[in-house]
Amino acid sequence: MTSDIGLSCPRCGRRVQPGTAVRCFDHETPVTLELDFDIDQIRERFDPAERGRRDIWRYRDLFPVSGKTPVTLGEGWTDLVDADKLGGRLDVDLSLKLEGANPTGSAKDRGSSVLVTHAREQGYDGVACASTGNAAASVSAYAARGGRDCTIFVPGSLPRAKGVQSRIYGAEVVTVDGEYEQAHEVCQTRVQQQGWLDRSAGSTPHVPGGERTLGYELAEQTSRVPDWVVVPIGNGGTLAGAFEGWRTFERLGLVDQTPRFLGVQSRSACPIHESLTEDTERQRDGDSTASGAASASGEVTDTCADSIDVSTPQRTAAVRAALTESNGATVAVDDEAIRTWMHELGSAEGVFAEPASAATLAGLALARERGLVAPGSNVIAVITGSGLKDIETANTAIHSEPNSSTGAE
Ligand SMILES: [Zn+2]
Repeated sequence: MTSDIGLSCPRCGRRVQPGTAVRCFDHETPVTLELDFDIDQIRERFDPAERGRRDIWRYRDLFPVSGKTPVTLGEGWTDLVDADKLGGRLDVDLSLKLEGANPTGSAKDRGSSVLVTHAREQGYDGVACASTGNAAASVSAYAARGGRDCTIFVPGSLPRAKGVQSRIYGAEVVTVDGEYEQAHEVCQTRVQQQGWLDRSAGSTPHVPGGERTLGYELAEQTSRVPDWVVVPIGNGGTLAGAFEGWRTFERLGLVDQTPRFLGVQSRSACPIHESLTEDTERQRDGDSTASGAASASGEVTDTCADSIDVSTPQRTAAVRAALTESNGATVAVDDEAIRTWMHELGSAEGVFAEPASAATLAGLALARERGLVAPGSNVIAVITGSGLKDIETANTAIHSEPNSSTGAE
């Protein structure tokens, strides 16, 4: 970590060195600091191959931690594999980024590794997290690895495997009555009382620092820039990180351009899709009629894709920026399509994805149907987590007819 990596307040612009703060308290409500790179300086010294690593610590020079002794389980550098059969059916050149191969079975390990490394470097005794499940299981594992206490706050609807996973890693699991939003509120209160470091989405610049490695990797693993990268949106950190990482590599001159991003939400929790659709409709014809999507922000939601069951995403601003700057788009898909594509992914390509990850394929199918994604496009779909996380939904997906429907509007 050198002085060309700073943290700055998006509201007042104050810039500090990493390790000194995670929030700016000069405002009525504390503001989470953001990564602030001096690109010209970094360009002169940055060479990921020099580290000789095949995990996220290959990008240590872009993290807001010293990272001399990282808390790691070998996360990242997951495979990007061809998916010719499903690509053929959708008439695109399709690759899958297999994030379920991370140590705890999801993309969340990228952020957790950097976060817990920071916790250990700065002497936090405990870490905490509000989560729909994957981030909870992930930070629990890294806390165990890094010798920190861990408390997680989860909604009552959590799939059993995710709660069991956190407990196996030794975390205290607090089930909060309500949805993700209520778990997040309780977590924030307890974090302030206890002086823990919070892994929850939007609470530190360290988790986004790790999430960007998805974009760095994709930029390194592809021989040509794809037309589209498809990512599910829960709190939005994975999509924002993939975009910001790729854009950083473009600014560093390591790739020519950044692809378009397609964000996929569940129809029963799609506030970002709704707001963007309404913006587009207003721009087009002055009509503020709501889109065909099912719920409004803040409503109680219910979908089998628990990892993206978030009504008020914490990283909304970053996702909107990513979609605008990449000339991207969003779609919302229903549970029937998610189950169908879970079965498709498994039976055609040998990939067992959790519902939120199968939503990427359901979303791509819908985008093809609508002509958003052109035939013959080069597409990467990010499979964010393992299907073993939620075998109850997988069991119902077995009875879905493969290739019967895109099932969404
Ligand atoms: Zn500030």
